[in-house]
Amino acid sequence: MEPLIELRGVNKHYGTLHVLRDINLTVGRGEVVVVIGPSGSGKSTLCRIINRLETVESGTITLAGRNLPAEGKELARLRAEVGMVFQAFNLFGHKTVLANVMLAPLKVRGQKKDKAQARALDLLERVGLADQAAKYPAQLSGGQQQRVAIARALAMDPEALLFDEPTSALDPEMISEVLEVMRQLAQEGMTMVVVTHEMGFARSAANRVVFMAEGQIVEDRTPEEFFTAPESDRAKDFLSKIL
Ligand code: ADP
Ligand code: MG
Repeated sequence: MEPLIELRGVNKHYGTLHVLRDINLTVGRGEVVVVIGPSGSGKSTLCRIINRLETVESGTITLAGRNLPAEGKELARLRAEVGMVFQAFNLFGHKTVLANVMLAPLKVRGQKKDKAQARALDLLERVGLADQAAKYPAQLSGGQQQRVAIARALAMDPEALLFDEPTSALDPEMISEVLEVMRQLAQEGMTMVVVTHEMGFARSAANRVVFMAEGQIVEDRTPEEFFTAPESDRAKDFLSKIL
């Protein structure tokens, strides 16, 4: 499989806290990698460094073989190639759903309005929200807002999508509608890194499960292997608490 995202020997500190310790991770094109682990183990930081929202002290992060400098236009382009979906949806409250999805293609890509609008409507259709295009985010449920956030990320035609606990802020009855959209994207071949506590999703949609603890990747295996026979005590302990 062609590697799309590659991290080699990546280290990151916050002050004296060593949050990422010698991380090596390869995500192949079309692969779905679910990242799990205890709170504070470095999962969000991992997403943030892949998307260059944070810098690293050592190691390399490449996307499709390119190690882009984290500056200026190159940085903006790289961010556009890796979309990110957060726990808090971060939609613009004063803009309609449609305008939220059109915004980056208009501003960052300089697309024509007609083209951006047609594409945004297609994407809203894809996440089941075509009929909500004229509404404002506050008029939507949390699950609907998160689906808008996914459509917004897709509007930049990213090579990969990162999800950082996309369903953690949602009421239980809305979790499945978001996971369903993610499952569909996975089936369509989108490369995805997903931080989640949804073990059902990990089992059914992931090609690999990466288990992190204290800034390290402790296990990197298929879901079958990980869930039926975790190797490390830390993974066994973690699974015994959440399953
Ligand atoms: P996770 O997502 O697995 O819960 P994080 O990547 O958010 O873990 O955080 C890893 C560690 O780094 C935690 O101890 C957290 O408190 C710390 N941390 C995260 N962001 C910052 C920051 N901006 N400044 C200082 N410490 C941080
Ligand atoms: Mg986190």
